[in-house]
Amino acid sequence: MEEQEITVSLSTQKKEKPKSDELQFGRIFTDHMFILDYEEEAGWHSPRIIPYQPLTLDPASIVFHYGQTVFEGLKAYVTKSDEVRLFRPEKNMERLNRSNDRMCIPRVDENLALEAIKKLVSIDKEWIPTAPGTSLYIRPFIISTEPYLGVAPSRSYQFIIILSPVGAYYEEGINPVRIAVEDEFVRAVKGGTGEAKTAGNYASSLKAQELVSDKGYAQVLWLDGVEKKYVEEVGSMNVFFKINGEVITPELNGSILEGVTRSSVIQLLRHWDVPVTERKISMEEVYEAYQRGELEEAFGAGTAAVISPIGELAWKEEKLVINDGITGEIAKKLYDKLTGIQYGTESDPFEWVEVV
Ligand code: PMP
Repeated sequence: MEEQEITVSLSTQKKEKPKSDELQFGRIFTDHMFILDYEEEAGWHSPRIIPYQPLTLDPASIVFHYGQTVFEGLKAYVTKSDEVRLFRPEKNMERLNRSNDRMCIPRVDENLALEAIKKLVSIDKEWIPTAPGTSLYIRPFIISTEPYLGVAPSRSYQFIIILSPVGAYYEEGINPVRIAVEDEFVRAVKGGTGEAKTAGNYASSLKAQELVSDKGYAQVLWLDGVEKKYVEEVGSMNVFFKINGEVITPELNGSILEGVTRSSVIQLLRHWDVPVTERKISMEEVYEAYQRGELEEAFGAGTAAVISPIGELAWKEEKLVINDGITGEIAKKLYDKLTGIQYGTESDPFEWVEVV
């Protein structure tokens, strides 16, 4: 693929930046955005950074009707010495292309996409909040833009990147959450789109999430879509259990999203000589371990929270209170190491950080 130059048109009307203590997740966007177009004849073309603005799309665009779309999520962090850093961004670009393959969307040039992220982040650098735990969320996504009501892959697309300053996930330090095991609705099935980061997976999760939120649970723990027996993910995080000294996470089976944080957790645990296994694990096994007093920790892992300890797991009529409802040792150690690497206060043994 030939080198494509990213053109830049700067905004003349700069928006007011939010105060650090008022930041939420994903409600405020920066001054600029990146766009790359695709048409069948031309391929991906015209990479450009322009002022943040609404899109004009034909109402018949395929994305509105059949959801042919993919997205990614990663963050930029600023260190005390004012260095801007990304965490394993190439992993997100690889996953974007795996999602593209599944959704019949043409692959993007991962180097160009990475260059676009870096250029956009450096143009909007002033938007990266500096208070502890805050960051700039990066949302690359691709939409199918062909105006056509037939169910077929689109012949035109836009790849867009937007940026959003976000607050600290934990305002008072890492804190355990209450999770409900979902035994009615399912997120994904083998052969479906669960391992792709595509809108439909998230739309289909809303109902279960709404029902458990009403009962005071933070997220649902998804079980497999066939037998509703094996653990898959927790909300939009991958999940880990520590049973009798061994850390276990569900193996990638086609219906689980392969998290960047998940792979980093596995690599760190191996580095620390903590036994870690990727395999099928049923809710019954988790419950039996709990009854034997061997369920030592449970936690979710994902870009948003990094590590989210599970203090309580509600399953059928049972309520499993894990590690007395407080953050476990491994969860805390992983959280400290990963956030330390991201914010530059810890060594980076695997060279995960990419400086912008
Ligand atoms: N599972 C799902 C369904 C997700 O949406 C996410 C968030 N991308 C994850 C797991 C965690 O992935 P990552 O560590 O790459 O953020």
